[in-house]
Parts: sequence; structure tokens; C-alpha cells
Amino acid sequence: MVEKDAAGKDTAPKPSAAKDGGEPNLPGLYAAVQSAIWLIGLAILFATGWWFPGILVLVAISGVTQALLAKMAASEEQKAADKAALAAAARTAAMAVPANCPTCGAAISAASVTWTGPTAAQCPYCKAAIPLKAEL
Ligand SMILES: [Zn+2]
Repeated sequence: MVEKDAAGKDTAPKPSAAKDGGEPNLPGLYAAVQSAIWLIGLAILFATGWWFPGILVLVAISGVTQALLAKMAASEEQKAADKAALAAAARTAAMAVPANCPTCGAAISAASVTWTGPTAAQCPYCKAAIPLKAEL
């Protein structure tokens, strides 16, 4: 059964769909993990002749693995959503930069201010914190 294991590993994990820039390739991972579980599991059942309760154990393992992978996928999606929200906040903040520094009156813009955080900026001349205009 160890030889089958090695053969399965040769063909299974191929991260080929990593084209969307950071998009996790989970459907491909699902398929690879599931096919590896079934390949190895069936090989073990075949080698031991332990078909009857054995096949149920294999189905259970496959189901648990699927649930775990689905959970991983959900947390990856959450991370991506958080990143998108942060980028959106930064964009909104950039548009909310006033035309002049309220402290020293210098002309400022989103490009010339010093960003101290995604939604916090500093005047490049007097270093005062710039109150960003309310968004929306
Ligand atoms: Zn200033």
C-alpha cells in the first residue's frame, strides 16, 4: 500500500490555477485531497480485504476532510474580504483629504500627505494630523 501512496502523490498536488493573484486554489486542492484519500483508502481496503465496515470508515474520513477543507476555504475568503475592506477604506480616506492643511494652510493632496495608517494622514509640512472629511 505504500507504493500506491507514492504513486498518488506523483499525480495529485499540482497548483496550476494560481493565476488570480492570491486566490486560493481550493477546488483543485479538494479534488487532489479527495482523490488521494480514496486512492489510498481503497488500496488499504483491497490489501486487507476489510471491505464491509472499512468502506464506511473511508466514507467518514472523506466527509470529515471535505468539511475541514470547506472551513479552510471559508477562512481564506474571510481574509480576502478583510483585505478588500481595508483597501476600500484607504481609497475612501485618500478621497477625503482636504485641499489645504487646516493647521498651516499648505496645499495638500492624498499623494503628498504622509499616510500614518490606512485612514490616518499627516501634513508633510507641519506634521499635524489631518482630519479626513467624513466619507460617503
Ligand atoms: Zn500643515
